[in-house]
Amino acid sequence: MADGDVLTTELSLLAVLVALLIGLAVGKAWERYKLRDGRWIDRRRLRDTPHYMLGLNFLVDNQVDQAIDELTHAASSATDALEIQMILGNLYRQKGQVGRAINVHQALLQRPDLTTLEHAYVLLCLGLDFRNGGFVDRALEAFQEVLQLDPRNRYAMVHLEKLHEDQQQWADALEMREQIALLDAGRRPDDQQILGFLRNEIGNAQQRAGDSAGAMRAFSEAIEADARTVPAYLNLGDVYEQQGNVPRAIDAWERMIAAAPSHAHLAFDRLEHAYRTLGAPNRFVELCERLITREPQGWRPHLALARHLAAAGQHQAALERLLDALPHHPHSLIIHQEIWEALASLGFDGALIRRYVELTREAVFYLDPHICRRCRYRTTELLWQCPQCHEWNTFVEERLAAAKETTIAETV
Ligand SMILES: [Zn+2]
Repeated sequence: MADGDVLTTELSLLAVLVALLIGLAVGKAWERYKLRDGRWIDRRRLRDTPHYMLGLNFLVDNQVDQAIDELTHAASSATDALEIQMILGNLYRQKGQVGRAINVHQALLQRPDLTTLEHAYVLLCLGLDFRNGGFVDRALEAFQEVLQLDPRNRYAMVHLEKLHEDQQQWADALEMREQIALLDAGRRPDDQQILGFLRNEIGNAQQRAGDSAGAMRAFSEAIEADARTVPAYLNLGDVYEQQGNVPRAIDAWERMIAAAPSHAHLAFDRLEHAYRTLGAPNRFVELCERLITREPQGWRPHLALARHLAAAGQHQAALERLLDALPHHPHSLIIHQEIWEALASLGFDGALIRRYVELTREAVFYLDPHICRRCRYRTTELLWQCPQCHEWNTFVEERLAAAKETTIAETV
């Protein structure tokens, strides 16, 4: 679990904790002074020692080992300083010492003088420890307790949602995200997107269980939640097609293309087949032409159209489409293969081969064009949820510029 995203989440959580606790520390100084008959034992001492501030600075610089050293020093001169222990526990977790983190945080829970807010935050840390260590049930319990103490704790909600997702408990995950969306009140556009993907997963589960009607309802709700939930349109169309309702299937897939034209290719095979079933294969040609007019750099409509033409025996027209597409996507092995098929069908015409070689002179090849915008995870196929950082819909297709001295990946 030591990947970039978890690290970022933990670091932002640490930053929040540090800010919160510095606030608490300042706010409580007077209270403690009164409570303890003027014995400024803890906070005063903390500020007398350089280790506390040094530790916080190392923390901000993400130098975990040095931060642990300094904060351990600081803690030894003020053992009741809650925030230091809390942060130390989090740092142990970050280093993979989950058992140690759990011990530190559980010890803090035993303190009699914790405020509700402090109690909630220690529990949150403990929940993260459990999640990190793979203790799913105890993590669930800890985060639920956090919400009882602090019902608007977004961190606990997000982690609960992720735990449910890990176990494919899509309905529970959905319920949690709905609460988060309520809390966010439209300030975060991600919420609708995640609601869409979760409803789509619910639909998939219902379809697998043989409940087509429920599945269709879930896919439609996914689209309603977020019109860019591409797999929901695909799945909805698939169910219609299975039921023999080709026009409704086509309608779902065409709506996907209208809502997310950059993903149009995902419906190409389906639509080509469906148009043919309806006896109107030319609708596929028209669709590709429309997409090419709209975005001439899009290589996939070119490729789909070329295949369609080749299947109809129009090899010269197919080759022209492929040669148009090649400069926009020189590293696609499929285009090269299709070109050779077309060249073979045209009897390996010398002039055509020379045109092709000229176009490929600058080409760059690589095999895993999809990349996660969050964590840079790479994959050959398009995924809707990243297997590394578990975020939804973060994959984009990476394009390489035609070869220059240095090849710098450019994310589109
Ligand atoms: Zn990722």
